[in-house]
Amino acid sequence: MFLTISTTGTEERPATDLGFLLHKHPDRAQAFSTSYGTAHVLYPEADAQRCTAALLLEVDPVALVRRGKGKGRGGAPDAALAQYVNDRPYAASSLLAVALSGVFSSAMRGVCTARPQRAAQPLPLRVEVPALPARGGPDLVRRLFEPLGWTVSAEPVALDAEFPEWGDSWYVRLVLESETLRLSEALRHLYVLLPVLDDAKHYWVAADEVDKLLRAGEGWLPGHPEQKLITSRFLSRRWSLTRQAMERLELVRLAETDDADVTEIDNAVATETEEEKPTPLAVLRREAITAVLHETGAARVLDLGCGQGQLVQALLKDARFTEIVGVDVSMRALTIASRRLRLDRMGERQAARVKLLQGSLAYTDRRLKGYDAAVLSEVIEHLDLPRLPALEYAVFGSARPRTVVVTTPNVEYNVRWESLPAGHVRHGDHRFEWTREEFRAWAGAVAERHGYDVQFRPVGPDDPEVGPPTQMAVFLKKTENTGENEKEAKAA
Ligand code: SAH
Repeated sequence: MFLTISTTGTEERPATDLGFLLHKHPDRAQAFSTSYGTAHVLYPEADAQRCTAALLLEVDPVALVRRGKGKGRGGAPDAALAQYVNDRPYAASSLLAVALSGVFSSAMRGVCTARPQRAAQPLPLRVEVPALPARGGPDLVRRLFEPLGWTVSAEPVALDAEFPEWGDSWYVRLVLESETLRLSEALRHLYVLLPVLDDAKHYWVAADEVDKLLRAGEGWLPGHPEQKLITSRFLSRRWSLTRQAMERLELVRLAETDDADVTEIDNAVATETEEEKPTPLAVLRREAITAVLHETGAARVLDLGCGQGQLVQALLKDARFTEIVGVDVSMRALTIASRRLRLDRMGERQAARVKLLQGSLAYTDRRLKGYDAAVLSEVIEHLDLPRLPALEYAVFGSARPRTVVVTTPNVEYNVRWESLPAGHVRHGDHRFEWTREEFRAWAGAVAERHGYDVQFRPVGPDDPEVGPPTQMAVFLKKTENTGENEKEAKAA
């Protein structure tokens, strides 16, 4: 049983830092005894540019049977033989997962005193498992890993290369690649999903397995599109444990999303002349967003993190928009949106233009591919910073619309809000609020990584000292867009 993890690097950020992150020195081959045999960690390659760690598990089939349920007594002679002669020594993913968590336990928790910053950041990763038992085939492998930000290659392995007519085995050769994940997340994905694909644990699943699942699944399992299958298979389909785990995951999801429904402080822009009634900032924002959508000629639009559907409603009134899709993680917000739009009473033609989808932007989602534009209005600041790369990948790496509009508060402007105590963010659920420089740095790096150009625009009065209350970035996809950009430039 065999798994490799590789990363790439430069002289300044050498790939060999992987040794620090895994707490295993690249110059030494090390062996660890586990209950079922020996786990070896070695590095087939280790220099500044590329570093690969291999985990090799040498299983003792006799120990496996002795420690297993029947303690070797077995029933019929055939069954007894099958305990010894089976694929477990070569393929059992649950053994590999247990070895992974034993040998790399600190790395799984993201602990690294020698290189704390690198442990906290995403790094380029490539994971290979040459023979992975995958019940559900390559399609399930993709459904499990792709939403987490992995690029997946899962080639079925033929039963016998010389007899192609025998068809494929239920093994795949798995290659996972990502630029957006931290090593600790990657290891926790493997710890949970390898045994889920194998669907045959080598040990009795007890109640503490629920805790293990929730710990390993923190930050990615709640809301995963295959959450139920993952939970049920990880817990060896023990129904009472599965139900317990599903309930706890739902509580986590609700705690993460519920307070996002509170109304934001941003009712009105502080205008200097008090005679006219100030326009609410939310209205200015919708106008600014609509203006960008008009300029770029977008007809099919995603409103990601649509909340209670105000923008969807505004866009529906404009016949230029032929398809408007609102996406939000909060069912409660979507219910309110659906009421606001009177979806149930809408005529057929109107109803065909609009859709509301429940989904998390922290996961890639095939339903979101192929649109002209995506709007993220006041959404990014609701995600914990470490989850932002996952959203970035889902939107810019996977959905890849031609135009992306992102708005977020400008924290510098907060001193101008009279009702806001110094040093406070505008809304209890904001995980961060950025200065103009921080927003530009993030947006610039995102554009660079995914082949977009980016421009910035103020929304609301642009204060000479602290800038506007809302900042907006407009991303335009480079390659497929150049022709049109040139046309637009000529027309201007
Ligand atoms: N776009 C709206 C709402 C902003 S409030 C507006 O401009 O008024 C932020 C919204 O993002 C909330 O409705 C919240 O449920 C949603 N949200 C937060 N995290 C999300 C995630 N990971 N996936 C999808 N939606 C999310």
